[in-house]
Amino acid sequence: MTKRPVAGERELRGIPVYPDIVIGKAHLVDRSRVKIVYQCFVNEEQSNREIERFEDALRSVEAQFVSLKNTMPETLKDQAFILDSHLMILKDSMLRDSTIDRIRKERINAEWALKKTLEEIREVFEQIDDDYISKRISDVENVTERLLRTLSGDTGHSLGGINQRVIIVAHDLSPADTTELNTAKVMGFITDVGGRTSHTAIMAQALEIPTVVGLEHATALVEDGDLLIVDGSSGVVIINPEDSDIIRYQERKLQLQKYKSSIARTSHLPAETPDGHRIAVNANIEFLEEVAAAKDCGGEGIGLYRTEFLYLRGKGFPEEEELFADYREVVEIMRPAPVSIRTLDLGGDKFASEIALSEENNPALGLRAIRFCLREPEIFKTQLRAIARASAFGRIQLMFPMISGLQELLDAKAILDQVKRDLDREHIPYDKAMEVGIMVEIPSAVAMAEVLAQYVDFFSIGTNDLIQYALAIDRINEHVAYMYQPFHPAIIRMIRQVVAAARTEGIPVSLCGEMAGDPLCISILLGIGLDGLSMNARSIPLIKKMIRAIPMQQARADLEDIMLLKTATEVRAYILQRTRQMFPELEEKGYLLD
Ligand code: PEP
Ligand code: MG
Repeated sequence: MTKRPVAGERELRGIPVYPDIVIGKAHLVDRSRVKIVYQCFVNEEQSNREIERFEDALRSVEAQFVSLKNTMPETLKDQAFILDSHLMILKDSMLRDSTIDRIRKERINAEWALKKTLEEIREVFEQIDDDYISKRISDVENVTERLLRTLSGDTGHSLGGINQRVIIVAHDLSPADTTELNTAKVMGFITDVGGRTSHTAIMAQALEIPTVVGLEHATALVEDGDLLIVDGSSGVVIINPEDSDIIRYQERKLQLQKYKSSIARTSHLPAETPDGHRIAVNANIEFLEEVAAAKDCGGEGIGLYRTEFLYLRGKGFPEEEELFADYREVVEIMRPAPVSIRTLDLGGDKFASEIALSEENNPALGLRAIRFCLREPEIFKTQLRAIARASAFGRIQLMFPMISGLQELLDAKAILDQVKRDLDREHIPYDKAMEVGIMVEIPSAVAMAEVLAQYVDFFSIGTNDLIQYALAIDRINEHVAYMYQPFHPAIIRMIRQVVAAARTEGIPVSLCGEMAGDPLCISILLGIGLDGLSMNARSIPLIKKMIRAIPMQQARADLEDIMLLKTATEVRAYILQRTRQMFPELEEKGYLLD
């Protein structure tokens, strides 16, 4: 990526992160320069005091991170793991013990010792021949900077106090900084460092704020109060623009908005390929309140209702009546369209404080989802009763998560049968034809798909977990996030295998992982022959528009080519080139991020 100050350094070019344009005043956050002075101590007592001061700072920063994590805005909750990784760094011996050792042996002050430790860690990271991992040094820098600020009693330029609408200009923004920000006041972000996988980038996407990172010299060139144009689709930032620039970018912003609304305007049209293949495009939701947005965005049904929320509020387990009222409302709003309600997927990274699970070393491989429900049949039955009762008010498709093989499915179905018998006995109505399906998201279920297909009414492929389990990478561990590869040939083969099994048994198969809403994945998923896709509501309009432009015949032919490729990189390069050819405007508008 080129980063070159041009035109008298008024125009900078960086890495675009979130495709939108803003024009506004700069708010310079000067965080990178904590002044560090060198001090040398003559006696051991002074050194010991210095160690205590350092340990106090460690405790104080730990408390700051914990408090920030607990007060994180709802939109950023998914990113809380970043603060966890900061907490881990704080406790890591590479940082902690080496600094204490230095203070003791070299008789120097904590700040200086910490600065030397950071330099040493930086050298180690630089030797790592992996771009992604070597970039993670910024995490260590963020933690060190906070420690230095705490040691020097400088709490920095408080970000919490920003009360005007501004564009934040920073060397880097740590997740802790971002959490402190009043994000309602932030029009945009620009930073000197960072890449597309940096935390600022991840956060900006979650917050939907126009952002350009990796500008190198932004903090040196921009002054507080400067007028800025930030183009998060091309990566251009203009400092104190001429009137003609402002007019040009206002026009561009208008074009971008027009493009977005032109896509939105057609979102109610069916997703039918030019050669007449219809794909069901549905929405994933987590709360009842999202149903309206799902419909507005053109969602034809709810393809995945993640039902954990009511269990995670820390108010105890919900009663049957509360669940029933919630499910009934979703179903009634969507009627006659289908709503796939997935039974509880607690565990893994989603915990309810009420569940006294023993600490698990590998929660993703632990007592999660259907395993937990089979272990706690009363909790499971309460939910199943609520779902079955709601099925009398619309069309529910019940879905079991994390099925690893037939026995588990039979056990879950047996409990459902018991619940239905109870309802019959109590003369409580439910839809006797309610379809029952499973999430296919564990590799063993892929291998057994042809058997499982004989026992269910539909399949829904959960690629978020399937990729995690098939490629053996923890989906919430950002250190291996670079390996989270939907384009891995193994994943494409697995999806194909599941679709083939569904075809043999004549059951429908859809996909509800993040892949479904990724513009780059669409042609592959069409070619494989999925009947439906379910995604976050915001992605629906564009995905439907793309489906209306890709002939199925072409998607199938491309898939044949793709099946000959051997690495995720090759597959991605192929698909990127193809998508650029077919949808040049997507690249220009910043939708195809490299
Ligand atoms: C999946 O695993 O792909 C999925 C859709 O479910 P979740 O992200 O809730 O695990
Ligand atoms: Mg899943």
